[in-house]
Amino acid sequence: MPAKVTLLPGSFWPHPPAVHITHGETGWLEVICGPMFSGKSEELIRRVRRAEIARQPLQVFKPRIDDRYDATRIVSHSQLAFDAVVAGTSAEIARAVLPETRVVGIDEVQFFDAGIVEVCERLAAGGARVIVAGLDQDYTGKPFEPMPALLSVAEYVTKALAICARCGAPAGRSQRLVATGARVVVGAAESYEARCRRCHVPRVEAQTGELFP
Ligand code: ADP
Ligand code: ZN
Repeated sequence: MPAKVTLLPGSFWPHPPAVHITHGETGWLEVICGPMFSGKSEELIRRVRRAEIARQPLQVFKPRIDDRYDATRIVSHSQLAFDAVVAGTSAEIARAVLPETRVVGIDEVQFFDAGIVEVCERLAAGGARVIVAGLDQDYTGKPFEPMPALLSVAEYVTKALAICARCGAPAGRSQRLVATGARVVVGAAESYEARCRRCHVPRVEAQTGELFP
């Protein structure tokens, strides 16, 4: 007989109905990953808002490198926003988290140093629900460290997809449209678009009229 799958209210298949959570003795790590424009920040904001409504003491961080919209808030491309504290390093986050904090959110987690993995693990081991969002691939499609390590140690993983700007298919990659080989281009959401596997060009794309035939 086939197994019966019951979806709880508020859950969405195929992700586990696990992210509407009440705090117990144990903490855990939730990772939200995907390309640019896939709704990672929206999803992080949705989860921390719910924690706030539930009056769970929470702290939200973002890296200093990401000053694209607002110095002290996470802002999604769809203009949802949530207050956040800017941190330069993973050690700064470790020092800033208060003992009573039950939920820790981190946006653009791929911009933190490798120490962020241990910091997340320690916070989770200490009883916190840790929710991080970030790019899983760079603009060439290569894994964006420290995301692979975070995905490995997470209890819950959500992979978000955008809509391919070329063909409308589900898009898992971020296409860079401006000519630079640097891994990070700050302040430049307009320098990227979401692309599917077929339409993605794993290098800088020349800015010519051919881009938009
Ligand atoms: P991320 O954090 O993954 O970059 P955001 O949460 O900031 O994504 O923004 C997601 C929003 O971006 C969508 O709800 C939609 O309004 C907008 N958006 C713009 N371009 C696209 C696209 N190609 N596919 C999906 N959403 C897009
Ligand atoms: Zn496509």
